[in-house]
Amino acid sequence: MIIGSHVSFGKNGLLGSVKEALSYGANTFMFYTGAPQNTLRKPIDNETTLKAWQLMQENNIDLNNVICHAPYIVNLANNLDERKYDFSISFLTEEIKRCEEMKIKYIVLHPGSSVGIAKDIALDNIALALNKILKNAKTVTILLETMAGKGTELGCTLEEIKYLIDHVDKKELIGVCLDTCHLNDAGYDMHNFDEFLQSFDEIIGINYIKCIHVNDSKNIKGAHKDRHANIGYGEVGFDSLIKIINNESLKNIPKILETPYIGDTDDDKTRIYPPYKFEIAMIKEDKFNPNLMSDIRDYYKLNPLK
Ligand code: FE
Ligand code: FE
Ligand code: ZN
Repeated sequence: MIIGSHVSFGKNGLLGSVKEALSYGANTFMFYTGAPQNTLRKPIDNETTLKAWQLMQENNIDLNNVICHAPYIVNLANNLDERKYDFSISFLTEEIKRCEEMKIKYIVLHPGSSVGIAKDIALDNIALALNKILKNAKTVTILLETMAGKGTELGCTLEEIKYLIDHVDKKELIGVCLDTCHLNDAGYDMHNFDEFLQSFDEIIGINYIKCIHVNDSKNIKGAHKDRHANIGYGEVGFDSLIKIINNESLKNIPKILETPYIGDTDDDKTRIYPPYKFEIAMIKEDKFNPNLMSDIRDYYKLNPLK
């Protein structure tokens, strides 16, 4: 099982990410090269990157399974503001270079939101931008994430994802990242994953799947909301998520948790704790933990985060 979570990148860059992943008992991870909500980025530090690679090697984390996530404010779908559209393209071109420096193979990208323009034009804008970005890419594959369909988000149907892939020239550098919360919210039945996978294979091709975001959802199927829940604490549920994680045909695909932090208010201060160490343990043991929240609070009270 290749499993990890979203981790931070911080001032030690990739090295900090690896250490955080190891503290969760993970054997892979996903990071943003800075804050997810902005595009301020520092140059990659070679020294800490080298240390990160060493630490990964010592702990059997395969670089090929590590995932970068593009910031969610870049939008390749809308070109009404040409400057913003061009900025998104040049930012992602640079992001690919940063990933190539760190030998990271995959960048997950939200396809974009049409905001005020026709969907078909928006899809063509994305395809055009992807081709520009990938022109200079050599070893980094962009993974289009399946979206919940919140607002004017694109990529919430398999047909839209297929359309984008069909229009990308470098097919070897394009793939898909499934997100179980988003798929549920988009209207796909995560309780019958084999059926879903079969239609994915017919429409797109199962070989395009390179990453899975494993999240439960706070909302019912088709809600178009995109609110993640902890594993087993949402509408998809523990059993269905475990089946997805252990699906034989996706065995070698990295599974990444992006579940919400746990709040703790019965203190003088409000704190939040990462759930990943406990969710990963629960997944490995294949047994639902009904005390997940209190276990997490108890643990981090005794072992405060630095
Ligand atoms: Fe995402
Ligand atoms: Fe996701
Ligand atoms: Zn989401």
